[in-house]
Amino acid sequence: MHDLRAWTSDRHRTVDDTPFGGGAGMVMRPDVWGRAIDAVAGLDAGVVGDVGDADPDRSDDAVPPARSGAPVHLVIPTPSGTTFTQRTAEELAREGHLVVACGRYEGIDARVAEHYRSRGVRVSELSIGDYVLNGGEVAALVVVEAVARLLPGVVGNPESLVEESHGAAGLLEYPVYTKPPAWADLEVPDVLLSGHHARIHRWRRDEALRRTAARRPDMVRALDAATLDAHDVDVLAEAGWQVRDGRLELADRD
Ligand code: SAH
Repeated sequence: MHDLRAWTSDRHRTVDDTPFGGGAGMVMRPDVWGRAIDAVAGLDAGVVGDVGDADPDRSDDAVPPARSGAPVHLVIPTPSGTTFTQRTAEELAREGHLVVACGRYEGIDARVAEHYRSRGVRVSELSIGDYVLNGGEVAALVVVEAVARLLPGVVGNPESLVEESHGAAGLLEYPVYTKPPAWADLEVPDVLLSGHHARIHRWRRDEALRRTAARRPDMVRALDAATLDAHDVDVLAEAGWQVRDGRLELADRD
């Protein structure tokens, strides 16, 4: 983590100013962000990992050298970005060096993203969902956590990453249960205690389809009918969906 104010050059360590064109709120200055990103990403002319313009006496911020020399991918959290999804997390997990620029106030001067793109840096402006936070820090934590758990060694059993919600199947995960088998008058479905792997697999797939149909019609619409077997199609039909031209759509209800 780095304190943006380490790259300010005035006595008040100002990082924001009023918006050109008027309107409420403050906008973060591109010059301060530019110095910060250059330093943190190791993009300053010359030495990779140099602390840049930051004044070492005033800075509480030790900038580590850019790791591994991998190209930097700049992530800018913003509610006006494209939606951050599991696909985005997978993509970012393949990168060698991510730098996240957290905004505050009304966000960061638009030239920052433009400038780094034109310098050949990969820049992703990402929204973690259709709501507005006060700052990018929590969004950054969301990105870091979703990406980090895809790195080898982070999740104890890598198998647990395979059948998750938002995985390759495009379905939500089935309901999960553990001991005790009976609790609060509720019992674990018999099939899960049966030891019959094929039946368990089928039950889980059916539940995943039902749950996705009930909660996320957008995900059902995005399914490729070619990946569904006849039983899948029946389960979805019970939930009101039919296949037409290789895609799922809500059946007419009359
Ligand atoms: N006026 C801006 C919102 C600024 S919110 C607009 O309408 O687009 C202030 C900061 O919070 C943003 O710069 C960003 O860093 C962060 N933020 C807010 N909502 C976010 C979201 N849904 N996803 C990612 N970052 C978000």
